[in-house]
Amino acid sequence: MVHRAFIALSFIVVFEASFIHAQEKAPTWQAGVAKVVITPREFMWMSGYGARTKPAEGKVHDLWAKALVLQDAHGKRCVLVTMDLVGIDRVLSDDVCADLKKRYGFERSEIMLSVSHTHCGPVVGRNLITMYNLDEKQHQLIKNYTHDLHDKLIELVGAAQKKMTPVQISWSNGFTTFATNRRENKETDVPKLRDLGRLKGPVDHEVPVLCVRDMSGKVRTIVFGYACHATVLSFYQWCGDYPGFAQLELEKRYPEATALFFAGCGADQNPLPRRTVDLAEGYGRQLGDAVEAVLKAPMKNVAPAVKTAYATVDIPFGELPSREKLVQDTASKNQYMAARAKMLLKDLEKTGTLKQYYPYPVQVWQLGNDLTWVALSGEVVVDYSLRLKNELGKIWVAGYANDVLAYIPSLRVLKEGGYEGDTSMIYYGHPCAWGPRIEELIVATVHAQVARVRKRLGPTR
Ligand SMILES: [Zn+2]
Repeated sequence: MVHRAFIALSFIVVFEASFIHAQEKAPTWQAGVAKVVITPREFMWMSGYGARTKPAEGKVHDLWAKALVLQDAHGKRCVLVTMDLVGIDRVLSDDVCADLKKRYGFERSEIMLSVSHTHCGPVVGRNLITMYNLDEKQHQLIKNYTHDLHDKLIELVGAAQKKMTPVQISWSNGFTTFATNRRENKETDVPKLRDLGRLKGPVDHEVPVLCVRDMSGKVRTIVFGYACHATVLSFYQWCGDYPGFAQLELEKRYPEATALFFAGCGADQNPLPRRTVDLAEGYGRQLGDAVEAVLKAPMKNVAPAVKTAYATVDIPFGELPSREKLVQDTASKNQYMAARAKMLLKDLEKTGTLKQYYPYPVQVWQLGNDLTWVALSGEVVVDYSLRLKNELGKIWVAGYANDVLAYIPSLRVLKEGGYEGDTSMIYYGHPCAWGPRIEELIVATVHAQVARVRKRLGPTR
């Protein structure tokens, strides 16, 4: 009897061992996620609005940086880092990527840095620097904060890597409609126009969702996006705006999961109506509902293979101002134009010339066979995501990734002018509007990078 029991037990042990062995050998994703609070320790200057006259005074909720590291069945890794911030500049982005390579071996194409564009976060680095008239103390606080943020991001990715476990990944798209084309609709008319179904202008209401489940099927990480400015709030409290509320909402509904938000091509889109915490929370819930609907419906599985590409394309500016024009602008009644002119004159003295172009980053990830994820830099108008989705099929297009360098108008918006097409360049410290080849150059680079990742993946993997 004892003998038979022993044989039976041995059989079970052997069976289980070979089952586990088979499971280990089956190709699978590995993923690790981590998060860290990045709310400034001090009440420093807030980013996104030139009209603010004092530093932050309080907090609605914390700001977060979050990292999701993915590793495919061949051992190739990539990392998404999301931040509840208005923007990061190229210097911080380059420094972080260099250190992530040094510390953990990530190549540039394998790192996607993304901000939510909340207008209730701190000024970081030199992002939008001509928008603010800051004293020495504020400059120092910004420097210290940027330095701390850099260190936190490096540790964050390390923490995510330590938590790598086998997972299943799936994706699908949802839908929600609060993003409104802000160039085409007068803000005060929006509720009425919405009721009448007469809102105008292009929008992208898709809600991309990537879900990471553990091997028992539990939701562990939710990555989601939306193409709309995080500008419900403009007060003096730290807050993640609607993306912050949406992430909190999803983490409440899925307590074992971490939720990461990435901004889409929402440069000309606003959440309207706006300006109250209730509205920000409401849009967060609405976006959370859209994500939850996706998670509860069948999603498409992602085969455990990732390909990554990253390239820069030189985008020429339009007609550069002369030295005389800049000298004239230093006396402008427009304080932002005067600040920009002073900064550019300093550059001119240092290098003898103004920069004629900007090296613009374009990144593409191919996850499995079906999901192509394009990450564009800067504040990208919605025309880009609509055009690229039309030309490249089912893709996701993130904006505000890797370097928030300026607004990125389409040729249409550039020709129309206005804030997104022209005058926003003042706040970003650029000499003039972009040249007319901007859309053609970016779209061609996206096509080339998408072709690279799709080709390398091959038809059957
Ligand atoms: Zn913006």
